Amino acid sequence: MKAVRWHGPRDMRVVEIPKPVPAAGEVLLRVESVGVCGSDIHYYLEGRIGSQVLTEPIILGHEFAGIVESVGAGANPALLGRRVAVEPGTPCHECESCRRGHYNVCLAMRFPGGPGCEGALCEYMAVRADACFPVPDSLDAPMAALIEPVAVALHTVELARLSPGDTVAVIGLGSIGLMAAQIASHSGASIVYGADLLPYRVAAASRYGVAEAFASASGDATGEVVERIWTATGGRGVDVALDCTNTPSGVGIACRVARPGGRCVLTGISGQDWDPLPVSVVRRRELNLQWCRRFCHNFPAAIAMVAAGKVDIRGLLTHSFPLEQTRDAFELVAASADNVLKASIDQ
Ligand SMILES: [Zn+2]
Ligand SMILES: [Zn+2]
Repeated sequence: MKAVRWHGPRDMRVVEIPKPVPAAGEVLLRVESVGVCGSDIHYYLEGRIGSQVLTEPIILGHEFAGIVESVGAGANPALLGRRVAVEPGTPCHECESCRRGHYNVCLAMRFPGGPGCEGALCEYMAVRADACFPVPDSLDAPMAALIEPVAVALHTVELARLSPGDTVAVIGLGSIGLMAAQIASHSGASIVYGADLLPYRVAAASRYGVAEAFASASGDATGEVVERIWTATGGRGVDVALDCTNTPSGVGIACRVARPGGRCVLTGISGQDWDPLPVSVVRRRELNLQWCRRFCHNFPAAIAMVAAGKVDIRGLLTHSFPLEQTRDAFELVAASADNVLKASIDQ
């Protein structure tokens, strides 16, 4: 079968590899759609995300969906023929975090498209049956693949613990930010502000639950976008700020727009080991900083929110490429070209 393997920065090759055979407890998935994620772009361009370093060629892709073509021994036969969104990542099930149910921080997690674990940019995958979530017929394959980032956005808002009437700022209006804005507006936010470096994303934001969006010329945590949000809130700051950027300055901007005693949820991946933090602001405002690691038990609710029409992901899917053109898709997303919001690889 065909797969696309990363061999080094900007080097993606279409390769032929054996079709997998599902083991006990697994199903054989015919991959229909894979979303291109900002974290994939870090690997594509730099071969690393902070301390996570790719040391050998690997198949990327962790946002995926497909049709279950066969089931292995002991796997639920009701999955046969179903379109499923797959929750990526296999935790160890044995460590303290796993036993507490906090499996997304398992240090022994094997995550597809990360170091040592092949991802979804291929025709078939063997995946754990218990990671397969059937989706309703109203979700086509690219939408089903985007359940993964919806789950991340949902976990982000869940960690923000919104109270009715809270004001929210979403820093970074990529697909995660635009999903989080919609979920926040359905979760009690009275108003959602947004900020991004790219004017076309700022322009798109009003369709995704953002009442007022600001373009940041510099992306600087001391820059004008902080002033704009500060002014928009009457000099109060927002109750909750969400960092959904892919830059080291995202954390600082989120901290600087949060009100005293406010809360920041930090979901963006800068790709660095260390990001600057405006510690005097954080201390004087006694901010609550909460990092978000992917998702934790969020797939069923993510599917329900999309099926109920509360999170528009169809509109986010701006570009589709065949598997052979995966490199073009990654180049497009890396350059934020052609007003791309989300690109997917569809087969
Ligand atoms: Zn992702
Ligand atoms: Zn574990």
